[in-house]
Amino acid sequence: MKKAVFPGSFDPFTVGHYDIVKRGLKLFDEIIIGIGRNSQKKETFPIRERLTAIEKIFGDEPRVKVMIYDCLTVDFAKQEGADFILRGIRCVEDFEYERNMAEANKQLGGVETILLYTRPEYAHISSTLVRDLYSYNKNISAFVPNDLR
Ligand code: ADP
Repeated sequence: MKKAVFPGSFDPFTVGHYDIVKRGLKLFDEIIIGIGRNSQKKETFPIRERLTAIEKIFGDEPRVKVMIYDCLTVDFAKQEGADFILRGIRCVEDFEYERNMAEANKQLGGVETILLYTRPEYAHISSTLVRDLYSYNKNISAFVPNDLR
């Protein structure tokens, strides 16, 4: 039983995130989408709303669970019995940070990280970009899965 945690802030969950989960389902039996609570960051979409919206997107996929967590990602992964952390890489700038986190999580908790590159058509879509557009009342429907529109 291969279980992975896909951690992030998902403020909001984008089509890029959706693509990583879909591809991750080919590698893992179960994926837990872990929404990390970050008290330092001001949120645009309330965390409970994010959870409900993501649950709706994967409503017919029993292999995906959505949870909120308050601790270090590697501790959350261990708590849930996951041996893998799944992350997406959008650009070369992401790489160094993700590589270092992967190494730290391996050393801290023995948890492996699997990095999936982002499809080029989604690479420009970050939660930050979507929040920005949203704050200026722009239409974000091209950037978020159906149920979040
Ligand atoms: P974090 O602050 O933890 O990076 P995000 O919610 O921005 O939180 O991202 C969660 C995960 O999704 C990360 O692994 C990130 O690299 C990945 N990701 C973000 N945007 C995209 C995208 N457009 N396509 C694929 N993966 C993405």
